Amino acid sequence: MKDFSVLIIDDSATQREMIARICREGGIQDLAEAENGRDALNKIEAHGQDYDLLICDLEMPDVDGIELISLLSKRKTQSGIVILSSREESLLSSVELMGQKQGLWILGSIQKPLMAQHIEDFIALFEQKRANSIDAVKSKNKTALTVEEIKEAINSKRLVLHYQPKIYMESRTLSGVECLVRIQDGDQIIFPDQFIPICEENQLIDEVSYEVVRIALLQKKEWREMGLPLNMSINLSAKSFNNNQFCESLINIIRDMGADAKKVIFEVTETAIIEDLSLALSVLNRLRLAGCGLSMDDYGTGYSSIQQVSQIPFTEIKLDRSLIDGITSKPHLQVIYDSTISMCNKLGMSLVAEGVEKREDWLYLKEHGCHIGQGYYFSPPMPHQDLMAWYAAGMPSLK
Ligand code: C2E
Ligand code: MG
Ligand code: MG
Repeated sequence: MKDFSVLIIDDSATQREMIARICREGGIQDLAEAENGRDALNKIEAHGQDYDLLICDLEMPDVDGIELISLLSKRKTQSGIVILSSREESLLSSVELMGQKQGLWILGSIQKPLMAQHIEDFIALFEQKRANSIDAVKSKNKTALTVEEIKEAINSKRLVLHYQPKIYMESRTLSGVECLVRIQDGDQIIFPDQFIPICEENQLIDEVSYEVVRIALLQKKEWREMGLPLNMSINLSAKSFNNNQFCESLINIIRDMGADAKKVIFEVTETAIIEDLSLALSVLNRLRLAGCGLSMDDYGTGYSSIQQVSQIPFTEIKLDRSLIDGITSKPHLQVIYDSTISMCNKLGMSLVAEGVEKREDWLYLKEHGCHIGQGYYFSPPMPHQDLMAWYAAGMPSLK
């Protein structure tokens, strides 16, 4: 913790002093204080580089916490941000979401008072996020790919999959993996947000999906031969539903590769489905008929989620990260979770918590009957060899 830098932003000198004492006792030496948002920006400027951690009050004179968050977003701050306030939980949670949507690393919010354990947990979370995002940051610095570059990547077999474990919470065993596509560019990795939208706009997405399914099923076969029969979750873009050959082509690939359709789960985000329900229904119903599982991805982020559950034969719901993060201390998220798990149990669907990053959230979800968990807390998405090493080592992050 010696090298860790912290800026405390609060208009109350007493509060600042209390937090500073906790930090110093925790061994943090690079410590500064600011009495409002403007002062904070000046301190950051003078520091020469981003502080690792910003502990930020909301109600302050001049530039308040909410305005500061927007200004930090404009500066593309790479600090971990903790919101500290005595205001109600639902407000804190909404401010967290606002910061995340603006691309900031909001680590969480705390209703005063702050304890030493909080600081320790936030530092651990920040380190974990930083490690997981090093590649992503590298990738974000690159400009978006052109259509030609993407075509070339597909043709030269540079689409690769990283696999993120999905864990049965009760038994702590591996249920399957989500296959997440990347483009290998030398020793760099290009993430899907930099090419999937371009593929969707340029009629390339079907080809990407076919290739992803082929790679995933080949991998699945290898794992099965090693005695590891894993479910493979594969993301689909709803843009493909416009192609009336798409579904048949997918089913043919599954059949030609000798895979068991029951072990393949297709994930589709809810916002995408709504664009043309009749097209979506014809593809999804046929995939279900063929035996594949269907998962509603990012559940709770779009509209008519519940209506779609009633209209489409989903076998699984993936509750979005924004409804999971910090659930242990957020009563309003707990209420949403309770109604979702109860719906899933009554309708015979699996509930997957996605993006679980914190141990306490994992424990809360486990205690409250969540079926499957996925997230950096257990493991980031990994190349096949790393996944095998992790598995062979007895899935150490689950201990
Ligand atoms: P998604 O399907 O919701 O996948 C989850 C994303 O969250 C992945 O990002 C994953 O790396 C990330 N993630 C996993 N655990 C955590 C966590 O604990 N915290 C946080 N903050 N993030 C976590 P990724 O791999 O960058 O993929 C982004 C999106 O790209 C996916 O979201 C999916 O919609 C799309 N995508 C990925 N692969 C494919 C594909 O083969 N085809 C299509 N059409 N879309 C894909
Ligand atoms: Mg997904
Ligand atoms: Mg998702």
